[in-house]
Amino acid sequence: MTTLDDKLDRVLGAKSGKALETALGLRTAGDLLRHYPRRYAERGELTSIAGLEIGEHATVLAQVERATTRRMRSRRGNILEVRITDGHRHMTCTFFNQSWRERELLPGRKGLFAGKVTAYRGQLQLAHPEYKLLDAVDEGEERSEAEEFASTLIPVYPAAQGLPSWSVARCVEQVLDTLDDPDDPLPEELRRRHRLLDLGAALRNIHRPEDRAAVEAARDRLKWDEGLAVQLALAQRRRSAQSRPAPACPRRPGGVLDAFDARLPFRLTAGQREVGEAVAADLAGEHPMNRLLQGEVGSGKTVVALRAMLQVVDAGRQAAMLAPTEVLAAQHARSLREMLGDLAMAGELGAAEQATRITLLTGSLPAAQRKQALLDAASGAAGIVVGTHALIQERVSFADLGLVVVDEQHRFGVEQRDALRARGGEETSPHVLVMTATPIPRTVAMTVYGDLETSALREMPVGRSPIATTVVPAAEKPAWLDRVWQRIVEEVRAGHQAYVVCPRIGDGGRDEETPDAASGAAEPEAGQDEGGADGERRPPLAVLEVAPALETGPLAGLRVGVLHGRLPSDEKDAVMRAFAAGEVDVLVATTVVEVGVNVPNATVMVIMDADRFGVSQLHQLRGRVGRGSAPGLCLLVTEAPGGTTTRERLDAVASTLDGFELARLDLELRREGDILGAAQSGRRSTLRLLSLLRDEDLIAEARVEAQRIVAADPDLVEHPGLARMVAELVDDERAEYLEKA
Ligand code: ADP
Ligand code: MG
Repeated sequence: MTTLDDKLDRVLGAKSGKALETALGLRTAGDLLRHYPRRYAERGELTSIAGLEIGEHATVLAQVERATTRRMRSRRGNILEVRITDGHRHMTCTFFNQSWRERELLPGRKGLFAGKVTAYRGQLQLAHPEYKLLDAVDEGEERSEAEEFASTLIPVYPAAQGLPSWSVARCVEQVLDTLDDPDDPLPEELRRRHRLLDLGAALRNIHRPEDRAAVEAARDRLKWDEGLAVQLALAQRRRSAQSRPAPACPRRPGGVLDAFDARLPFRLTAGQREVGEAVAADLAGEHPMNRLLQGEVGSGKTVVALRAMLQVVDAGRQAAMLAPTEVLAAQHARSLREMLGDLAMAGELGAAEQATRITLLTGSLPAAQRKQALLDAASGAAGIVVGTHALIQERVSFADLGLVVVDEQHRFGVEQRDALRARGGEETSPHVLVMTATPIPRTVAMTVYGDLETSALREMPVGRSPIATTVVPAAEKPAWLDRVWQRIVEEVRAGHQAYVVCPRIGDGGRDEETPDAASGAAEPEAGQDEGGADGERRPPLAVLEVAPALETGPLAGLRVGVLHGRLPSDEKDAVMRAFAAGEVDVLVATTVVEVGVNVPNATVMVIMDADRFGVSQLHQLRGRVGRGSAPGLCLLVTEAPGGTTTRERLDAVASTLDGFELARLDLELRREGDILGAAQSGRRSTLRLLSLLRDEDLIAEARVEAQRIVAADPDLVEHPGLARMVAELVDDERAEYLEKA
């Protein structure tokens, strides 16, 4: 009999075992049984050809319409073209020098066809597909055939070249036939309460379902495995983070925080006060705060963070603020200094009595400055150290680090947060406040950020100006693009400034700063489904090409500056400074302006090739305008044709300023595997069935169950099956983290 731990080559023989391992990375019977069907073809019902995506490896159940062989002129040989249909649309399968197949691919026969979907002259194709005719009754095959397709639901597996779905199915059958009923990791009592199948039944049902209801029951149960494993890992993580000692930083009256509050030029919003109090209480505690603060761009997160940092300084400790880029770190340091004024001038002439010092620490500081900054951090002379995320990777030492503020966390994963918590003094973990301007849907907050408490700033401080967003279809309406440049000229004449954002730098650098690379937030495959044949798109517009073209063309006479991630940092800083001072009218930039950059006089943001950016990214970008008294205008320039999903996406961004709405849309459009940082295909990924979009209830229930289980049994000694699931999950995460690093 077979157990889930048995190696596949033992169960299935060396040849099949090897094929499954090389093609799909499956090694044990358990691995194979957790390789679930992607969908089920229904016997008698053909697969819709219209639903196929170019580039996908597809398995379709279709009917042969006709087959023709013709000689090739250029080369010797012949080509067999087989037209298959779903009853509505058709596609072509091509075979070289295999005209004998014409004898079995007879019109009217049905079969499964598997291969990579391509497009050729507007026609969908499968080039040299593998196929299996359903009604073929070759000798010897008859029996297995009958068995394999006895059910009306034919499982279609994620397949790989050389290992078609039906071969996987045959291997699964063989394993199921000899499988011992497996030990169920889920406690029986939990299964009963949630009405879940046991593991053995669920595995059988998902691979050989009698009907759709059986599939659903199996999925429900198997999703629980995934949801519970994730939530158990998070519950353990929260527990271990919370059980560490932290540097307590109780509020001290009469210190720098009180002095700052006394001179604040505005009233805190109700939300700022509420979150501020929660944070203050956390900081006073003996265990580390782990909190996520969400709030739209401009909602006033920075003030909340600064007040938290000042409480820590008042307690005689240090705070660090981490930004994703050097430009942002420099800008944060500058704006914190501005907000604090003489309260940030410790050691300088004219400093206030309670003053502290803010030190900027980035990788590209000149050696002497860098040395001084490191010294200030280590000696405690700097109350607040501002730097890039790299600050934690390098072993910068602090005299007494009490709080780390991470700004714009969407490039900052669980592993990095763990690394942060492991920092600080010998024994203690610093408090951590993570801030994000991208609203996070509840399910994502419960999984990807499930190690954090969350709070949100929902109202904007008064005095924000509205932002109008318009899509500019440059291909269909070239005149609109001319109008875009005119608008910029008009705004500049009126004394305002503008941004023009491009997806690429254009200096031919190896790792071009494309939106995909910059944030992982864009959908790399977006647009591919409607562009016809893939791989034919022009490269995205580049800063270094667009800037000179504008300067000598429609924006002649305006002062145009250039900003991107590969400028030396003093140049970056100089450009930002000049733009902030109004000495540059138009800043042509990559997404380095995406977050945190604050120039209230800028009123227009033009985003070129807007379709190359993710929804959240576009939302972030437009938050750069409308920061002053004048209304903001955001123009999304695209060549994507109307009616495509790409254009719908841009229209959605233009239609709402509600960040939560957009976050949900983003979630729908992004592949969930990417959100979780897991590779989508080929490798095992953490969540196979569980959907962050559709399984909100299950995730919430699993979270409650996990909390309860870990509270009673922190190390899961009573639940070895669960402990193992969690260990496998954490292993996978580590492997992915190492691969990315
Ligand atoms: P975020 O970091 O969330 O994008 P900031 O903290 O940078 O937002 O705040 C944006 C702007 O609003 C800043 O100029 C800040 O001084 C101002 N601001 C913050 N809180 C308030 C408030 N309660 N009332 C008025 N203006 C505020
Ligand atoms: Mg900010």
